[in-house]
Amino acid sequence: MTPDILLRIANLTVPRKPDRGPTIHPDPLAGPATAAQALGLRRLDTSQLVVLRELHKTIVALVDGLLSGRPVARAASRLTSLAQPSVATVRLEASKSQTLRSQLKWSDPTPAATLARRVALELAEIDVARLKRCDRPACNLVFYDTTRSGTQRWHAESPCGNRERQRRYRAAPRPSSPTESR
Ligand SMILES: [Zn+2]
Repeated sequence: MTPDILLRIANLTVPRKPDRGPTIHPDPLAGPATAAQALGLRRLDTSQLVVLRELHKTIVALVDGLLSGRPVARAASRLTSLAQPSVATVRLEASKSQTLRSQLKWSDPTPAATLARRVALELAEIDVARLKRCDRPACNLVFYDTTRSGTQRWHAESPCGNRERQRRYRAAPRPSSPTESR
């Protein structure tokens, strides 16, 4: 699985196209309509924005901690508090063939609580070592490495992998040709 919601929120205010001139990147959490769109929610009340900003800050701190090896206990406990309003009840279903299946039914009072608990559940499922930041200095996107080898360095080959290879090629010292030396 890929931690889609975690990545979406962690990358919420990271510019997608660092090459396209000056960075004009309006904060999607500034208004309910852009926030709803950015978070994949149907609609959003203005009153939710404060807690969603808090959620965003918490997830950015958590991801930064994970990527830099700093302690994340504080951010984890903040995420726990944000997820607290989401509660689940278990339902056990018996089929005629005597097989039993249990299901958790979540009740989510607020979008922030829903997102917080989904991110918390995602974090428990993933291999945290595969959570990475794009290796291209101009790009700051966080991605989840799903390659078998676990050696992905850029969030995407296009543009970041291609651009970065070009840049490194140009920056590499060239062996001087014999005609240039005296
Ligand atoms: Zn990138």
